[in-house]
This record gives sequence, structure tokens and C-alpha cells, in this order.
Amino acid sequence: MLCESEPVRITSNFYRLGPVAIPSFLLDGEHPVMFDAGLYILGEHYWRDIRRLMGERRPEYLFLSHVHFDHCGAAGFLKRVMPELKIAASGEADEILKKPSAVQLIKKFNAFALDGKAYFESFFIDHVLAGGDAIQVSKDLTVQIIKTPGHTRDMLSFYIPEQKILLPSEAIGVSGLGDYIFSEFLTDYQVYLNSLKKLADYDVEVLALAHGAYCTGDEARAYMRRAIEYTLRFREKIEGLLKMYGDDYEKITSVIKKEEYDPIEGDKQPEEAYLINLRAKINAVKKILN
Ligand SMILES: [Zn+2]
Repeated sequence: MLCESEPVRITSNFYRLGPVAIPSFLLDGEHPVMFDAGLYILGEHYWRDIRRLMGERRPEYLFLSHVHFDHCGAAGFLKRVMPELKIAASGEADEILKKPSAVQLIKKFNAFALDGKAYFESFFIDHVLAGGDAIQVSKDLTVQIIKTPGHTRDMLSFYIPEQKILLPSEAIGVSGLGDYIFSEFLTDYQVYLNSLKKLADYDVEVLALAHGAYCTGDEARAYMRRAIEYTLRFREKIEGLLKMYGDDYEKITSVIKKEEYDPIEGDKQPEEAYLINLRAKINAVKKILN
């Protein structure tokens, strides 16, 4: 999927690499860092963008927000072409990658949009990040690590205070049609909502979304408020459907899918992954009802 899109300069030294639907980000400085590694098939695209922007220099770190297939897919590829690159993620991500079944799933979904064969290069975490850590990119440029679980257990968000850039990954959901935001509480509803509220306290000028266009200023702050509103609404929606249809997940998923997933044309999550995630969200709401 080496498409024509060029890297996008967001601030003087912060760039989006690869396609807007599944980007990686680069913060350049004395010790440059990358954020997320999308799909395996996009590895070449991120790599080309890095060389265009950095010439012979290379990023030192690759920070992974979490190890879902579409956030770490190209990490192994990037490590092979840049052997000095240190892959960094949470301790939970490190544990997940030690489970063969989890790696199988990452591999399986990375076959999407190819010839059905799984393409994936495995990798390990070189550096474990904890919430509250700060990594110095340059004398006046820092990346703060924020623990934001709820979408997954291993989820981290990143904040660059000097430029007020927030990379929340899917801790603030995923943009849908219009101003809709998919709520992404796969592991725990309340924990997800708490993470969202924690992120809403940050002073944000640039919101670098994991899937979709980045936004700035008032638009960025409005997006964060909307993410909370849609989360509350989505929980109510699921609650209502559970009351109406009980354990008929087939029915509940089909009602929701028709509203938020089916109308999207073009780039979207593969249906199988969408449905796995939707069932997880229904379970998360069910858990707080009991
Ligand atoms: Zn995810």
C-alpha cells in the first residue's frame, strides 16, 4: 500500500507519516522518536517518509500506544531496516507479545488487503514505558507517557508539553462518519471513561489522531469533549439494547453495526475485527449492569 501521500508537517518538527487512515508520527530532534507502526503493508511507506524527512538520520525510539494489529503491524519491519531503533511500549504490551495466541491474531489481521497470506515480522519490546515517564527528545522537547487503559490494558497516550501535542491513540475513540466518534472501551467501560477524562485535563493545541486527520486549537478541544459525550451515549445505547434483547448479541450487534459501521464507504476496520470489538464493548457495558 505504498500510495502517493506525502509526509505531512504538523508543527516545525512533528510529522505524520503514511496514509491518514493509519498513520505513524515522527517527532524530530536530537533524539528523534516515532509513534505507532500501523499495518505491516504500510512499513515501506513509513520507511520511505522517514528517509525523505531525515536523510541519513534515523529515529531512536518507536513508541507503541498498544499492540493491536493496526498499531504495531510494521514494528518488526521497521526494526529490521533500522536495527538501532528501540521499540518501546507498556509492560502490559510486553506481556501480551509473549503470548503466541496474541501474536497469531496480530499476524492474522495483518493479512488484510493483501493476498490472504499473513505478512508479519515479529518483534520484541526493547524498552518498557511506565506512566509518568518522560523521554527527552531535545533539550527543550519532551515526550510524557500517560497510562490510559480501557480500550486495552496496555494502552499508552503521549504528550509533548512544549508544543501541546497529544497523541491519544484510541483512548479517545476513532472518528466515524460526520462528527461521530466510535467509543472504544474494549476492556473496561469505567476505566476507559476515566482515561478520557484524564486526557481532557491536558492543555491541547494539536490532537494527532490514530485514524483520521489531525485537528488543532478549538477543534481539538471540541473533539475531546465530543469523545466523552459519545462514550456516555454509546453506553446508554448498549444498555437499552441489552434491556430490549437480553443476551441476543446477534440482534444487538446488527442494530449497532447498521448505524455506525455499514454506512462508511472506503477505509474502515475489517468487519471481523469490528465485530470482535463490538462484542467486547457490549460485554463491558453488561459488566457494569450486574
Ligand atoms: Zn486498538
